[in-house]
Amino acid sequence: MPLGTFDRNENLALLGTGTFDVLVIGGGITGAGVALDAAARGLRTALVERDDFASGTSSKSSKLVHGGLRYLQNGDIRLVYEALHERQRLLRNAPHLVKVLPFLIPVFTGKGGIIPKQVARALGSAMWMYDLTGGIRIGKVHKRLKADAARAHMPTLGERLAWAYLYYDAQTDDARLTLAVARTAALDFGAAMVNHAAVTELRREGGRVAGAVIDTGAGTLDVRARVVVNATGLWADDVRALDEGTHPHTIRPAKGIHIAVPWDKVRNDIAAVVPVSKDRRSIFVVPWAGAGGELGGEGSVTYIGTTDTDYDGDVDDPQCTADDVAYLLDAINRSLAEPIGPGDVLATWAGLRPLVADATSSRTADLSRRHLVTTSEGGMVTVTGGKLTTYREMAEDAVGAAVAVLGGDIGRRARRSRSTRKLPLRGAEGWTEAREADPHLAERYGGESGVLAAMTAADPTLAEPLVPGLPYRRVEALYAARYEMATTLDDVLSRRTRARLRARDATAAAADDVATLLAGELGWSEAERADQVARYRAAAAREREVPGLPESVVLTGGS
Ligand SMILES: Cc1cc2nc3c(=O)[nH]c(=O)nc-3n(C[C@H](O)[C@H](O)[C@H](O)COP(=O)(O)OP(=O)(O)OC[C@H]3O[C@@H](n4cnc5c(N)ncnc54)[C@H](O)[C@@H]3O)c2cc1C
Repeated sequence: MPLGTFDRNENLALLGTGTFDVLVIGGGITGAGVALDAAARGLRTALVERDDFASGTSSKSSKLVHGGLRYLQNGDIRLVYEALHERQRLLRNAPHLVKVLPFLIPVFTGKGGIIPKQVARALGSAMWMYDLTGGIRIGKVHKRLKADAARAHMPTLGERLAWAYLYYDAQTDDARLTLAVARTAALDFGAAMVNHAAVTELRREGGRVAGAVIDTGAGTLDVRARVVVNATGLWADDVRALDEGTHPHTIRPAKGIHIAVPWDKVRNDIAAVVPVSKDRRSIFVVPWAGAGGELGGEGSVTYIGTTDTDYDGDVDDPQCTADDVAYLLDAINRSLAEPIGPGDVLATWAGLRPLVADATSSRTADLSRRHLVTTSEGGMVTVTGGKLTTYREMAEDAVGAAVAVLGGDIGRRARRSRSTRKLPLRGAEGWTEAREADPHLAERYGGESGVLAAMTAADPTLAEPLVPGLPYRRVEALYAARYEMATTLDDVLSRRTRARLRARDATAAAADDVATLLAGELGWSEAERADQVARYRAAAAREREVPGLPESVVLTGGS
């Protein structure tokens, strides 16, 4: 039996009761991880998220659970070692959401070859280092492939391909991973988790931060807490300003965008790392399976990214530009026999890395991906930086700092209690059986798929596609509203399902129908339903218009 609930109203009601040991601000992967770590240690925990779980950077990543080969080349061995350790833990604790993914590094020869020979040799050493630093824990070491063997994985590679490296990392669904962490905190450990609830003020008692004022959308609520943890990523300085009175300006945002193209255009059955010849970096080319968990199944895409550029625009609204798209297309087209054009781009997403500023570096690509935990004079703990992959470790460190602030008996008890290292996330249990019954549901809901299967058995129309041409089913939208705290059309199309990231315009076309399905479940009036559709379509149109992309509803099928 679950200990807690994941119903928004019930969680809101909980927020107003008594004093929490820990109040976490921010429901990205970091905040969700902090809430789970704190709740698992027996601390009375609450989390508030201004928008939706993972709506910030945590739904816009490259979706890799990896050590980061590139950081080795920068000499950051400890970061890679720790990340590879976390990768193994995630493969075990969330086997339904985190999968081993082989990667190809194609090496080209000839004039203008993308990787000069000496760089290729250095890469070979880096691959050994990666295995030795912990990559080998996945059970396989890297190998060198001849051109034919490499083409068997990516037949679209151009003529100049000489050979390739093959190594192993892992892939996840970032938004669903964040949600699984949040649901585990609530359902298994009784944490109060509320989305669409923003902190607008901090409360103080005797100079100490002792809670916060929350705007719930339907009024304000005072939440009392012995310690507050600020896990707001990009917005961490804004929350620190509420505590410290001045804005510390420690976060330097760096923008990274991805584009999704029909899988048929690349036909890669594994991921590839393609170097950008004009830059000292590379981009990922990652396949994303469609219907039936199959590459080539309906809705399959390959996503390509990322860019890494300094950003000084509105942090609440990063957009992919025409230059961003051109950068990625130019890089990938140098590797392919047949070029991909802007007309092939089905979707884009733009995220901002919350890097911790370093005045001595001018390139955001050089800034550290390490995390930082600080405690203010008022006792508020702030955790910034890091990666999706290392969220658990960041959370452990942040809760360690929170426990130090708590002190006394509570602190002592929490220090000695349960670690999240071997803690399975929701859906891990029973996932193997679920996979045999229905691979599509199992890969997204794990052992909880049975609930969706029962809903579909009661109403077989729920097995129909949610968005024509994409693998998601109508039942997933209803399940999202009923059991996953989705409260808007965008929550359902962008994060509970990832429909918008596969085919933006197709989701805009289906928005009216999906909103009608959700209206009954969420109690929307006709005016509210229409407003949800209008807002979703306006955001999708802007996402297409800013980079000047043509409208596209052509989806990939098997071919
Ligand atoms: C392009 C790109 C690619 C990446 N790829 C990878 C990758 O492949 N692998 C990897 O390991 N890492 C990757 N990362 C890094 C990773 O995505 C981030 O480190 C991670 O998602 C940050 O999570 P977070 O919880 O700290 O921040 P966020 O996800 O941004 O969460 C912060 C949350 O705080 C909320 N918030 C803000 N203010 C308030 C308030 N006043 N009240 C309540 N809530 C508030 C926001 O709404 C937001 O949801 C990538 C990052 C980018 C940008």
